[in-house]
Amino acid sequence: MNQDEYNNLLEYLNDHNAHLVAVSKTRTIDQLNRLYKYGQRTFGENRVQELLQKVNQLPDDVQWHMIGHLQTNKVKQIASFIELIHSVDSFKLLKEINKQAKINHRTIKCLLQFKIATEETKYGFTQSSAIEMLNSETFNNLEHIQIVGVMGMATFTHDKSIVKKEFQTLKTISEKMKSDYFLQSSDFNQISMGMSGDYKLAIEEGSTMVRIGSLLF
Ligand SMILES: *Cc1c(COP(=O)(O)O)cnc(C)c1O
Repeated sequence: MNQDEYNNLLEYLNDHNAHLVAVSKTRTIDQLNRLYKYGQRTFGENRVQELLQKVNQLPDDVQWHMIGHLQTNKVKQIASFIELIHSVDSFKLLKEINKQAKINHRTIKCLLQFKIATEETKYGFTQSSAIEMLNSETFNNLEHIQIVGVMGMATFTHDKSIVKKEFQTLKTISEKMKSDYFLQSSDFNQISMGMSGDYKLAIEEGSTMVRIGSLLF
């Protein structure tokens, strides 16, 4: 994507109050720097090892998002700097994030990842597992995490009607979580959904954060 195309994409997203996460997994530092020069500051990675290698090679004002499944034992490696973790898919992981955030004297922003795909997916909360967590006293005592919204991955299919339905499901979950658990929290307002192939559909269904890789690079 050249600068003009990037600007057009950003304008479209700005018009819809949506934030662009440039998914830079598997891309080279040169490729990231090119986007940085266009003005991009938010980058998303899905593997800790790769993320750590890139952090030192890009300017300090880049904000790094973790978007892929995160193993509990790796949280400590990113806890000092990670801006947002999209892929919080278990209570155990959330507790570890809280622990490592505390050690680093920070509060780490998180999204709860929900299973919305009709295809079998390994990672993510079901509504009932999320509700169980949110109702627990342990959850309410976590002082170093801030849940700022939800994230979901649609089924990998060309059938737009399936993808659309799944995005609507995530939007509905988000509204329910907001009204039942986060009404006092003005920061619970993010819906991370939409990738290169379906970001426009996601925006139409209420996405506030799109994770785009291949289209950009
Ligand atoms: C790779 C990836 C994306 C971006 O996918 P593209 O189709 O390249 O835009 C978005 N979200 C997650 C979780 C990913 O792993």
